[in-house]
Amino acid sequence: MSQAKTVLEFSTPTEAEKEASKAVATLVEFAATSNAPNITEKSLVRAVVNFANTGQARDLPGAPVIIVNGQSFCLASPEMDALRAQLQNDLTAVVQDALAGSTLQRLRKDSSRMVQVPIHEMSLGVPTYRYFPMDLSAVLAHTVLMLRDKAKNGLGKDLKQCKLAGCGQFFLSSDMVADTSKGGRPRERFCKPEHMAAAQTPGAERTRQWRASKARQLASLTAAPTKKE
Ligand SMILES: [Zn+2]
Repeated sequence: MSQAKTVLEFSTPTEAEKEASKAVATLVEFAATSNAPNITEKSLVRAVVNFANTGQARDLPGAPVIIVNGQSFCLASPEMDALRAQLQNDLTAVVQDALAGSTLQRLRKDSSRMVQVPIHEMSLGVPTYRYFPMDLSAVLAHTVLMLRDKAKNGLGKDLKQCKLAGCGQFFLSSDMVADTSKGGRPRERFCKPEHMAAAQTPGAERTRQWRASKARQLASLTAAPTKKE
Protein backbone atom coordinates (compact mmCIF):
# COMPACT_ATOMS: atom_id res chain seq x y z
CA MET A 1 0.00 0.00 0.00
CA SER A 2 1.45 3.36 -0.96
CA GLN A 3 1.17 6.32 1.38
CA ALA A 4 0.45 9.86 0.11
CA LYS A 5 3.56 11.96 0.48
CA THR A 6 3.12 15.21 2.42
CA VAL A 7 4.42 18.16 0.48
CA LEU A 8 5.08 21.33 2.40
CA GLU A 9 5.69 24.53 0.52
CA PHE A 10 5.37 28.22 1.18
CA SER A 11 3.27 30.29 -1.13
CA THR A 12 5.30 32.94 -2.85
CA PRO A 13 3.71 36.38 -2.52
CA THR A 14 3.11 38.22 -5.76
CA GLU A 15 4.67 41.63 -6.31
CA ALA A 16 1.25 43.22 -5.70
CA GLU A 17 0.89 41.37 -2.38
CA LYS A 18 4.34 42.50 -1.28
CA GLU A 19 3.50 46.11 -2.16
CA ALA A 20 0.17 45.88 -0.31
CA SER A 21 1.85 44.39 2.74
CA LYS A 22 4.34 47.28 2.83
CA ALA A 23 1.51 49.78 2.46
CA VAL A 24 -0.39 48.19 5.37
CA ALA A 25 2.70 48.37 7.60
CA THR A 26 3.19 52.04 6.70
CA LEU A 27 -0.46 52.89 7.31
CA VAL A 28 -0.70 51.03 10.63
CA GLU A 29 2.43 52.79 11.89
CA PHE A 30 1.04 56.14 10.72
CA ALA A 31 -2.38 55.45 12.29
CA ALA A 32 -0.82 54.87 15.71
CA THR A 33 0.66 58.38 15.84
CA SER A 34 -1.68 60.26 13.50
CA ASN A 35 -3.63 63.37 14.50
CA ALA A 36 -6.71 61.93 12.76
CA PRO A 37 -9.61 61.74 15.22
CA ASN A 38 -9.90 58.45 17.09
CA ILE A 39 -13.66 57.94 17.20
CA THR A 40 -16.42 55.40 17.75
CA GLU A 41 -18.69 54.35 14.91
CA LYS A 42 -21.53 56.25 16.58
CA SER A 43 -19.47 59.46 16.63
CA LEU A 44 -18.85 58.97 12.93
CA VAL A 45 -22.60 58.56 12.35
CA ARG A 46 -23.28 61.77 14.33
CA ALA A 47 -20.75 63.69 12.23
CA VAL A 48 -22.30 62.36 8.99
CA VAL A 49 -25.85 63.23 10.19
CA ASN A 50 -24.61 66.70 11.13
CA PHE A 51 -23.18 67.16 7.63
CA ALA A 52 -26.53 66.13 6.10
CA ASN A 53 -28.42 68.59 8.33
CA THR A 54 -26.10 71.60 8.36
CA GLY A 55 -23.50 71.17 5.60
CA GLN A 56 -20.75 71.36 8.24
CA ALA A 57 -18.13 68.71 7.36
CA ARG A 58 -15.20 69.85 9.51
CA ASP A 59 -15.33 66.78 11.80
CA LEU A 60 -15.50 64.24 8.99
CA PRO A 61 -12.48 62.19 7.96
CA GLY A 62 -11.65 62.96 4.34
CA ALA A 63 -13.31 66.39 4.29
CA PRO A 64 -11.24 69.04 2.52
CA VAL A 65 -10.10 71.29 5.35
CA ILE A 66 -8.03 74.46 5.47
CA ILE A 67 -6.33 75.64 8.63
CA VAL A 68 -6.37 79.32 9.51
CA ASN A 69 -4.47 80.42 12.64
CA GLY A 70 -4.66 76.89 14.01
CA GLN A 71 -8.42 76.58 13.46
CA SER A 72 -9.74 74.19 10.85
CA PHE A 73 -12.43 75.18 8.36
CA CYS A 74 -14.19 73.27 5.62
CA LEU A 75 -14.86 75.46 2.62
CA ALA A 76 -18.23 75.39 0.86
CA SER A 77 -18.10 74.34 -2.80
CA PRO A 78 -20.50 73.02 -5.46
CA GLU A 79 -18.91 69.57 -5.02
CA MET A 80 -19.62 69.61 -1.26
CA ASP A 81 -23.21 70.77 -1.92
CA ALA A 82 -23.69 67.88 -4.37
CA LEU A 83 -22.26 65.36 -1.88
CA ARG A 84 -24.57 66.69 0.82
CA ALA A 85 -27.68 66.49 -1.42
CA GLN A 86 -26.77 62.93 -2.38
CA LEU A 87 -26.24 62.01 1.29
CA GLN A 88 -29.66 63.45 2.22
CA ASN A 89 -31.30 61.27 -0.46
CA ASP A 90 -29.36 58.21 0.68
CA LEU A 91 -30.27 58.71 4.36
CA THR A 92 -33.96 59.21 3.51
CA ALA A 93 -33.84 55.95 1.54
CA VAL A 94 -32.22 54.21 4.53
CA VAL A 95 -34.90 55.49 6.94
CA GLN A 96 -37.60 54.33 4.52
CA ASP A 97 -35.78 51.06 3.84
CA ALA A 98 -35.89 51.85 0.14
CA LEU A 99 -32.32 51.99 -1.18
CA ALA A 100 -32.42 51.37 -4.93
CA GLY A 101 -30.19 48.68 -6.45
CA SER A 102 -28.18 51.21 -8.44
CA THR A 103 -27.65 53.31 -5.30
CA LEU A 104 -26.44 50.26 -3.40
CA GLN A 105 -23.97 49.51 -6.16
CA ARG A 106 -22.57 53.04 -5.99
CA LEU A 107 -22.38 52.92 -2.17
CA ARG A 108 -20.57 49.56 -2.14
CA LYS A 109 -18.02 50.81 -4.66
CA ASP A 110 -17.40 54.09 -2.82
CA SER A 111 -17.32 52.57 0.68
CA SER A 112 -14.43 50.27 -0.13
CA ARG A 113 -12.17 53.19 -0.98
CA MET A 114 -11.09 53.65 2.64
CA VAL A 115 -9.24 51.96 5.48
CA GLN A 116 -10.59 51.74 9.04
CA VAL A 117 -7.85 51.08 11.61
CA PRO A 118 -8.98 49.82 15.05
CA ILE A 119 -7.34 51.75 17.91
CA HIS A 120 -9.50 50.53 20.85
CA GLU A 121 -9.01 53.45 23.20
CA MET A 122 -9.59 51.68 26.50
CA SER A 123 -11.26 54.54 28.40
CA LEU A 124 -14.31 54.48 26.12
CA GLY A 125 -15.13 50.80 26.52
CA VAL A 126 -16.24 50.55 22.89
CA PRO A 127 -14.06 50.16 19.82
CA THR A 128 -12.60 53.36 18.40
CA TYR A 129 -11.12 53.81 14.95
CA ARG A 130 -9.06 56.09 12.79
CA TYR A 131 -10.33 56.44 9.24
CA PHE A 132 -8.17 56.87 6.15
CA PRO A 133 -10.50 57.48 3.20
CA MET A 134 -9.41 58.29 -0.33
CA ASP A 135 -12.00 61.07 -0.21
CA LEU A 136 -15.10 62.18 1.69
CA SER A 137 -17.56 60.19 -0.46
CA ALA A 138 -15.94 56.94 0.77
CA VAL A 139 -16.68 57.84 4.43
CA LEU A 140 -20.25 58.89 3.60
CA ALA A 141 -20.94 55.68 1.67
CA HIS A 142 -19.44 53.52 4.43
CA THR A 143 -21.61 55.23 7.05
CA VAL A 144 -24.80 55.00 4.98
CA LEU A 145 -24.22 51.26 4.55
CA MET A 146 -23.56 50.84 8.31
CA LEU A 147 -26.91 52.53 8.93
CA ARG A 148 -28.73 49.80 7.02
CA ASP A 149 -28.17 47.56 10.05
CA LYS A 150 -31.63 47.58 11.65
CA ALA A 151 -30.84 44.79 14.13
CA LYS A 152 -31.65 45.35 17.80
CA ASN A 153 -28.46 47.23 18.62
CA GLY A 154 -27.71 48.25 15.07
CA LEU A 155 -26.99 51.92 14.39
CA GLY A 156 -29.65 51.92 11.68
CA LYS A 157 -32.39 51.39 14.23
CA ASP A 158 -31.36 54.69 15.79
CA LEU A 159 -31.56 56.87 12.65
CA LYS A 160 -34.78 58.86 12.25
CA GLN A 161 -36.04 61.70 10.06
CA CYS A 162 -38.34 64.42 11.40
CA LYS A 163 -41.91 63.85 10.22
CA LEU A 164 -42.94 67.52 10.25
CA ALA A 165 -43.60 68.61 6.68
CA GLY A 166 -40.85 70.97 5.54
CA CYS A 167 -38.32 69.91 8.21
CA GLY A 168 -36.82 66.53 7.36
CA GLN A 169 -33.84 66.87 9.73
CA PHE A 170 -32.10 63.58 10.55
CA PHE A 171 -31.40 62.59 14.15
CA LEU A 172 -30.45 59.66 16.36
CA SER A 173 -33.36 58.78 18.64
CA SER A 174 -30.92 57.68 21.38
CA ASP A 175 -29.56 61.27 21.48
CA MET A 176 -33.08 62.63 22.03
CA VAL A 177 -34.06 61.39 25.51
CA ALA A 178 -35.84 64.45 26.91
CA ASP A 179 -35.40 63.77 30.62
CA THR A 180 -34.04 60.40 31.70
CA SER A 181 -34.86 61.10 35.39
CA LYS A 182 -38.54 61.01 34.40
CA GLY A 183 -37.96 57.86 32.40
CA GLY A 184 -38.43 59.82 29.16
CA ARG A 185 -38.57 57.71 26.04
CA PRO A 186 -36.32 58.60 23.12
CA ARG A 187 -38.17 60.68 20.54
CA GLU A 188 -38.83 58.71 17.38
CA ARG A 189 -40.81 61.01 15.11
CA PHE A 190 -39.73 64.64 15.54
CA CYS A 191 -36.35 66.33 15.79
CA LYS A 192 -37.44 68.73 18.59
CA PRO A 193 -40.40 69.36 20.93
CA GLU A 194 -41.52 72.42 18.92
CA HIS A 195 -41.92 70.28 15.80
CA MET A 196 -43.87 67.67 17.72
CA ALA A 197 -46.20 70.41 19.02
CA ALA A 198 -46.58 71.92 15.53
CA ALA A 199 -47.47 68.54 14.03
CA GLN A 200 -50.01 67.88 16.78
CA THR A 201 -51.87 71.14 16.14
CA PRO A 202 -55.09 70.02 14.38
CA GLY A 203 -55.22 70.71 10.65
CA ALA A 204 -57.93 73.43 10.70
CA GLU A 205 -56.18 75.33 13.51
CA ARG A 206 -52.85 75.05 11.63
CA THR A 207 -54.45 76.45 8.47
CA ARG A 208 -55.99 79.32 10.47
CA GLN A 209 -52.59 80.16 12.03
CA TRP A 210 -50.91 79.98 8.62
CA ARG A 211 -53.55 82.29 7.02
CA ALA A 212 -53.24 84.75 9.90
CA SER A 213 -49.46 84.92 9.59
CA LYS A 214 -49.70 85.34 5.78
CA ALA A 215 -52.25 88.13 6.24
CA ARG A 216 -49.91 89.89 8.70
CA GLN A 217 -47.03 89.60 6.23
CA LEU A 218 -49.17 90.97 3.40
CA ALA A 219 -50.43 93.84 5.56
CA SER A 220 -46.90 94.88 6.48
CA LEU A 221 -45.85 94.78 2.80
CA THR A 222 -48.81 96.75 1.42
CA ALA A 223 -49.26 99.22 4.26
CA ALA A 224 -49.21 102.57 2.48
CA PRO A 225 -47.48 105.46 4.22
CA THR A 226 -50.17 107.56 5.94
CA LYS A 227 -50.69 111.00 4.46
CA LYS A 228 -50.25 113.98 6.73
CA GLU A 229 -53.35 116.17 6.96
ZN1 LIG B 1 -38.00 68.79 12.74
